[in-house]
Amino acid sequence: MTPAWATRLVDEVCTTAGMRPPLLRWRRAPRSTSTGLTRVMAGTISVTAGTDELDQRVTLLHELAHWLGPRPRRRRGRVIHHDAAFFQVAFELYRRHGIPDAEALEREGGRHPSALRHARAMGVPGADAAWQTHRDALRERAERQSVPRILVPEHTVRLVRDGRWTRCSVCGVRIVGPTLKRLRRRSGRHVTLAVG
Ligand SMILES: [Zn+2]
Ligand SMILES: [Zn+2]
Repeated sequence: MTPAWATRLVDEVCTTAGMRPPLLRWRRAPRSTSTGLTRVMAGTISVTAGTDELDQRVTLLHELAHWLGPRPRRRRGRVIHHDAAFFQVAFELYRRHGIPDAEALEREGGRHPSALRHARAMGVPGADAAWQTHRDALRERAERQSVPRILVPEHTVRLVRDGRWTRCSVCGVRIVGPTLKRLRRRSGRHVTLAVG
């Protein structure tokens, strides 16, 4: 059953925009967040509603922005559904229909990180900070991934034969080429690192 507020919201948004309303299909799912799908050609918006009511509302408004908004463009063979023009329509709808900016940023940013960049360019209050936080998180993750972790602390290499290969018996690493030649002449130390 489609809730009355959702039917009202669709009518209100489409009347204001001077557009025919879509057919709204509503189902429920046992989780907190909602998902939506707009089929412009079929004239439908489908919402799978989670339990979080604010998220239901944001999801329906997001789909209404697809309904009202610019038709998706193609760029390098890909269809772009969520560009600056789309988010212009979406954030206006959020504001006009009582979604606090912080909530709109958090929910849109969580699904479409590019929303933060567009919201920032549009001057949505709080978007700048949300965008910075997102960038910091990306940078931290990149740094974490590129710093080598020490698997085995520095130790004296002990060469052992392993079939055709020579390994360090302390850490198990295979030793080849010039390194092997050098270590055969005189003992050396090494650290075993793992990247990633
Ligand atoms: Zn969308
Ligand atoms: Zn070793």
